[in-house]
Amino acid sequence: MKKLIMVKYASEIFLKGLNKGKFEKKLRDNMKRSLKGLEYTFVHDSGRWFLEGSDVDEIIERLMKVFGIAEICVVSQIETDYDAIKAKALEEVKESGAKTFKIETNRANKTFAYNSMEINREVGAYVLDNLQDITVDIHNPECMVHIDVRDNTYVYSKPIKALNGMPYGTNGKTLLMLSGGIDSPVAGYMMARRGVEVDCVYFHSPPYTSERAKDKVKKLAEILTGYIGRTNLYVVPFTDIQMQIIEKCREDELTIIMRRFMMSIACRIAKDNEIHSVATGESIGQVASQTMQGLVVSNDCADRPVFRPLIALDKIDIMDISRKIGTYETSILPYEDCCTIFVPKHPKTKPILEQIRKSESILDKEKLIEEAIEKTEIIRL
Ligand code: ATP
Ligand code: MG
Repeated sequence: MKKLIMVKYASEIFLKGLNKGKFEKKLRDNMKRSLKGLEYTFVHDSGRWFLEGSDVDEIIERLMKVFGIAEICVVSQIETDYDAIKAKALEEVKESGAKTFKIETNRANKTFAYNSMEINREVGAYVLDNLQDITVDIHNPECMVHIDVRDNTYVYSKPIKALNGMPYGTNGKTLLMLSGGIDSPVAGYMMARRGVEVDCVYFHSPPYTSERAKDKVKKLAEILTGYIGRTNLYVVPFTDIQMQIIEKCREDELTIIMRRFMMSIACRIAKDNEIHSVATGESIGQVASQTMQGLVVSNDCADRPVFRPLIALDKIDIMDISRKIGTYETSILPYEDCCTIFVPKHPKTKPILEQIRKSESILDKEKLIEEAIEKTEIIRL
């Protein structure tokens, strides 16, 4: 008998019809990338993927960061033989120490003489005959023994829920506006989980934002690479733009005009680098610039789709995700960001597009944007 790791991929991949093969290949490549440096072999048995390797825990830990995997199970591989199946199922229930159990069979191998109902019934009866103080509970069993009958048979009882989502790299590309806060790394994670490739852009305002603030953003992008493999971080020098805005524009319009610049520059970088879209960590109503009217005014500068995957989430839910994906502890480090330094006392919460365009026209926007892009640093992570 061998112990293998069985990988079940997300059910959405099955719905891809003729394209299914492409998604499977991408997922497999991503799994290989995540397992780099470990010893393992891939085993295929009629539509299921298995991995055999010595460091089972490490393999599982890495696969738990791969999008497109629904479930990971450590399985016992045995011969497709009725007595062997019964014995293994019995052992599985016994070892679990459960008082209630259920047998759940999937028979992909139609040449096996018994159908799944018969196997459930007979194996269940065998367990009842050979263990004391045990009953069947088909609705809420303490131990659910899965029997997967293929060329070989696979028995397991402790499936681990994985990330689901779509294989990374199957759904175009976005440029994530990554600040040092809690929200934007979560937004990047959520886009990536749907298979969208993610590059990042950070607006840096030295000396008002320190080198440590930039390192923090870099660290957040690095944490994301645990899920996505690699990314580019565009660091845009933003001080001159902010200074010009402060000097020439009304105080209550500073934030909204600054956000328009960020949006324009992000779209320009996206365009120059063949990135289809932009993503932000905005959530409706969270701060003054994230009102519906504020979003209308900043979105006006976009020439491509802008995704805001957190738009309808509460802060508390965003924080939960941030803890789960491992960005929270870094996000709460207390380094200033460029927006908190230049916040007006009473920012406009209901800006009017025509009015803001007019206020902004006093600046040489095109020139400022070009200079910032010219001096943008690209960090490859
Ligand atoms: P976060 O927690 O992501 O910083 P926030 O709640 O602080 O978000 P804002 O400061 O209004 O909200 O920023 C809204 C969004 O704008 C951020 O989620 C991020 O996508 C983008 N953003 C803000 N500041 C920067 C920056 N310095 N560089 C890149 N993107 C930024
Ligand atoms: Mg912020």
